Parts: sequence; structure tokens; C-alpha cells
Amino acid sequence: MLTGKTALITGGGRGIGRAIALLFAQHGARVVVAARTRDQVQTVAREIGDNAVALVCDVSNPGQVAEIFADIKPDILVNNAGIAESATFVTTTDEMWQRHIAINLSGTFYCTRAALPAMLEKGWGRVINIASIAAKTGAPYVAAYTASKHGVLGLTRSLAVEVAARGITVNAICPGYVDTEMTSRGVEKITAKTGRSAEEALEALKKMSPQKRLVTSEEVAAVALLLASDEGRGINGQGINIDGGTVLI
Ligand code: NDP
Repeated sequence: MLTGKTALITGGGRGIGRAIALLFAQHGARVVVAARTRDQVQTVAREIGDNAVALVCDVSNPGQVAEIFADIKPDILVNNAGIAESATFVTTTDEMWQRHIAINLSGTFYCTRAALPAMLEKGWGRVINIASIAAKTGAPYVAAYTASKHGVLGLTRSLAVEVAARGITVNAICPGYVDTEMTSRGVEKITAKTGRSAEEALEALKKMSPQKRLVTSEEVAAVALLLASDEGRGINGQGINIDGGTVLI
């Protein structure tokens, strides 16, 4: 399905990004995984084998982003790198705010801007942004994260229309809580703040979905594969929820 294509996946060292890298490679893509932690991207690349490359890159650093895209011209870009921290609105520091905007939103912008010229030249390209249901709705204590993810969806919609006639699609995937380290860290934070047990905190997150469960990384990867494929070419400018029906817009 993706034979002959190169896919660059930011945040490919673990969690959702790793699942996308493995699935895309299974479907024939050459895969480039990029994140800040060298041993994690190298482990994923080794797991995939010959058809994978590991790169160390901080997506919030435009110089580092420019360097990797000077060498690699991906047909498929998955902007998955992201962070999520929580705080009440008034205790959200400048640094925490800037970190979310720099990684989640500006990182998506820098990588997409660097990848797009080659896609435009080829007349084929896929940009897949891993946003969140936080791109469409609000929740307490996550204003920085929510603002950054709303920004990602806005960028997605604008660019999708700009390049629609050039063989390129731009979409966002909006998962609910996924069974990754990011969610485990959220559970730890709830436990520390509320004194609830880890099981209780996890149950509370699961209950936010009408399906009463976490989404798996593999479910997110399956939707990314459809968006990356030729069969998915009619899907453009969308924010596709994978959340068991939590958010209905
Ligand atoms: P993880 O924390 O498990 O993985 C995040 C990945 O992003 C890691 O590989 C991390 O590597 C990388 N990353 C973080 N900051 C940077 C950076 N500055 N430059 C390059 N890479 C970076 O999280 P998930 O797999 O759960 O999350 C992946 C994406 O999915 C995120 O954008 C997240 O917001 C989104 N999402 C997650 C949900 C969830 O419930 N888990 C729900 C909805 C959306 P390193 O730290 O080594 O750089």
C-alpha cells in the first residue's frame, strides 16, 4: 500500500508514533523516525530493520528541523511529536505555555513547511497531524495543551484547502485518551494531586469515553494508514476523532 513512499514520523520513538512507524513499514514504506531521545528512535528503527532510519531532532528547533529536511524529502509526514502537561490556568507558567506552543504547534508548522516544497514538486503528499479531541473541545487544567492542539487543527484546515488541487492531503487525527506513557504520566499526576489510587485515576479517564476504555496506539495507526494511502485521497482538511464517541463534532 505504501511501497515506494518515504514516511517521516516525528515522536516516533514510543507510543502512537512508534505504532504508526511499525504499521507504515509493514505496508512497505521506508520509515524515518525522529525524536529527541536517541536510544528510543534507534530501538524503533532496529525493530523495523533495513527500511528504517532513526534521527535525533527537536521539532521545536527550526534549525534542527531544516537540517533533517535538507536530506530527507518525505512523501508522508506524520506530525506526532507532542507533550501534555497540566496546571490550573493561573499557575500555567510562561515556560509551560511556550513549551506547548513550541513543540505541539510550531513543531508541526516547521516540519510541514520544510516538507511541503518536495511534495508540491512531486504532485503527491500526505500530511497527518496527530492533534487530540483537545483540538475541538475544552477541559480544565490543560489550557496550554488545548490551545496548541486547536492551533494544529486550524493549521490543518487552512493548509488542506491551500494544497487541495496539488495532490496533497492534510488531515488531523483527534484521539481521546490513548494507552501510552503520556496517559500514564497523566494518571500519576492525578494520583499525586488527588490522593486517588492509580486504578481509580485510570478508571476516571476511561469513563470519559462512552466506550469506557482507552484507545490503543494501533487504532490511531490504522487511521493514519488510511489517510496515507491513495484510497484515502478524498479525505482532506478533517479532524478525525478516535474517542469512542466522546466528542461528537
Ligand atoms: P508519548 O509521550 O508516549 O510520546 C511522545 C513522542 O513525542 C515521543 O517520541 C517524544 O520523544 C516525542 N517528542 C516530544 N517532544 C518532542 C520534541 N520537542 N521534538 C521531537 N519529538 C518530541 O505520547 P503519545 O504517543 O501518547 O502522544 C503522541 C501524540 O499524540 C502527541 O502529539 C499527543 O499530544 C497526541 N495525543 C495523545 C493522546 C494520549 O492520550 N496519549 C491523546 C490525544 C493526542 P522525546 O521525548 O524523546 O523527544
